[in-house]
Amino acid sequence: TISQALPEIQELIELDKKHYLHPTTVPKLFQEKGPKIIFQEGKGIRVTDVKGDTYIDGVSMLWNVNLGHGNQELAKAAYDQLSTIAYSSSFYSYSNPNAVRLAQKVVSVAPGDLSAIFYTSGGSESNDTAFKLARFYWNLKGRKAKKKIISITRSYHGATVSAGSATGIEAFHNFAGSRDIDIINARGHVTNCELGYKTDSNYEGCIRDTIEKVGAENIAAVILEPIQGAGGVHVSPDGYLKAVKELCKANEILLIADEVICGFGRTGKWFGVDNWDVVPDIMSVAKGITSGYAQLGGVMVNKEIRDTLNEHDQILGHGFTYSGHPTACAVALKNLEIIERDNLIENAKNMELVLKNGFEYLANKHKHFTKPRAIGLLAGFDLQANPDTDTPFEQSIRAASFVVEHCFNNKLILRAADFEEGKNIVAIAPPLIINKEEVEE
Ligand code: PLP
Repeated sequence: TISQALPEIQELIELDKKHYLHPTTVPKLFQEKGPKIIFQEGKGIRVTDVKGDTYIDGVSMLWNVNLGHGNQELAKAAYDQLSTIAYSSSFYSYSNPNAVRLAQKVVSVAPGDLSAIFYTSGGSESNDTAFKLARFYWNLKGRKAKKKIISITRSYHGATVSAGSATGIEAFHNFAGSRDIDIINARGHVTNCELGYKTDSNYEGCIRDTIEKVGAENIAAVILEPIQGAGGVHVSPDGYLKAVKELCKANEILLIADEVICGFGRTGKWFGVDNWDVVPDIMSVAKGITSGYAQLGGVMVNKEIRDTLNEHDQILGHGFTYSGHPTACAVALKNLEIIERDNLIENAKNMELVLKNGFEYLANKHKHFTKPRAIGLLAGFDLQANPDTDTPFEQSIRAASFVVEHCFNNKLILRAADFEEGKNIVAIAPPLIINKEEVEE
């Protein structure tokens, strides 16, 4: 298809193969097949490639383009700031109005007493920063042994050494063998043992068991996504997050909520944790804070952590060139303004129902379709050989990839999670601006 394209496109493909290394791509395969698609432009929920073919973006690219493509207000916010002062430093006590105003805004919508934000350029940096701030906090409290971080199975927390180590998807570890030794992947996932059931067959390796084995005195924090995204849209069962929070509190361990996907309306609430009224001690954000129109992330900390940092005279020896980037912050401010003005969080909640109607239709039509779930516009379903008996496909049958490929060929972009043995999950996370007719389409 793309190989039949115009000479300029052919040239792009050749240059791409020669000089551009792509994330989560098999380089050898890329040399054979070239890029799957070369995006050219986007409008609303749709994107168009260099050949002129238009697709529905059913996953908001990487779960981030929440306002949809081609938003001129965000483009103007960026342009206006770029032409005033594009960039200024946040190091050495330098500041800028947009970073300050944005800090005030995110604190005002964040749950509980999350009171201050440290800016990063994305989700991985946010989680690395969250780990450092947690350790820094315990240092200041005189608890210097509290260094270890617990994460759970199927989590995705990013690709830097520490955030990548916290990622509980094995495929991300096999590649370079780099591991932060202070990160522990608890093998448990969303089990009853966090509720205190020691008889749960998953007890061995769950968070509670890991704390008992490693010792709370050595653990700085537990990190988890309220709803796992890349791991396959796994929704925390009712009571789970609250139980983990209580477990952490009882053991003097900080709870880090990774809200990189869930944050800023994706789940029909401002934040994923709001679905269960749980207030984490630390919260990582990125993606939806700018709808992907600029690279920005952040780590929010509660009042106790903020005040502890403010009481000591030790330097916070951490930061990124683009921490508090004025243009990224300008885009974020406009993005949050639009989310509120256009009631997009409410829209995500309303569209959840339309999506669920569609799932019902699919469930009646296809015998392999099962386990549909949607919290706001973070949704997915499983494919199984036999849903009635909970029987997965054989490992060689990558049903989710097959379905996603079929959809792609029919101009709908979705995402497969089938890297885990026997799991075939299709993820759906369209822009929050989507309407009823578009969901139905
Ligand atoms: N945390 C979660 C939950 C994510 O989904 C991602 C990216 O998909 C990250 C962290 C890493 O973010 P980034 O790719 O911006 O570094």
